[in-house]
Parts: sequence; structure tokens; C-alpha cells
Amino acid sequence: MNLTHIEHIGIAVRSIDEARKYYEDVLGLKCYSVEEVADQKVKTAFFKIGQTKIELLESTDPEGPIGKFIEKKGEGIHHIAFAVDGIENALQSLEKDGIRLIDQAPRRGAEGLDIAFLHPKSTFGVLTELCEDKNK
Ligand code: ZN
Repeated sequence: MNLTHIEHIGIAVRSIDEARKYYEDVLGLKCYSVEEVADQKVKTAFFKIGQTKIELLESTDPEGPIGKFIEKKGEGIHHIAFAVDGIENALQSLEKDGIRLIDQAPRRGAEGLDIAFLHPKSTFGVLTELCEDKNK
């Protein structure tokens, strides 16, 4: 498998408008994109540090995955995303290694990336996302 870098860290927040003040005014990062991903019931905001991004996730529906996460665990780190070359092959190889996949095949995520999630039960408690930018 060819992981190249940490693509982003996903952080669940109650309010992007509130949280972005910290990232922008205190940490001095710039929000370069706000995007709603309707099928995930989230609004996302992206900040860049080097080649890694911070992805803030605000739920648009209490029944969505981020709504439920915050209800159970509160705000905080939600997932880590690795950039990979060849996401289909990576998923096949993970499955062969007995890793539980949430997404059997890649789907379209924020920023037009192909993404797939691995189950935290197979990854020592860390919800893990693989991403591939096929437009680059
Ligand atoms: Zn993500």
C-alpha cells in the first residue's frame, strides 16, 4: 500500500462559525473552503498547514454521523485521513489483511476526492479514512 502523507485530520465541532475563530484568529490559519456534503449530513471547513489539512465537521442533522458522534463523545478529533496512491488496490489489500471496511468501494467526498473509511474496531480505535485525489 502506498500512503503518501496525512491528507487531513477531521475534527467534529458544534459550530464551524464558532470554531473557525480559534483556527483563524488564534492559530492564524486561513479557511479556504466551506462545503456541505449532503449525503454525510455535514458541513465542512478546510484549513491548510503544509500539505496537511484540518477539516472541521459540523452536523447538519442530529441523526447524521457527526451529530451522533458529538452527542456521544462531545467535540474533538473524529478521524484521520491518509492520502494514498491507488485507493482501490489499497482497499483490496486491507480487506485481505482482515481489516473491516466501512466502504467496500471508494465514494466521492469533500473536495472531489475519492474516499473510503476503515472501521475503528480494526484500527485500534481510530476512525481512518483513505483519500485519493484523482484530479491531480
Ligand atoms: Zn475526512
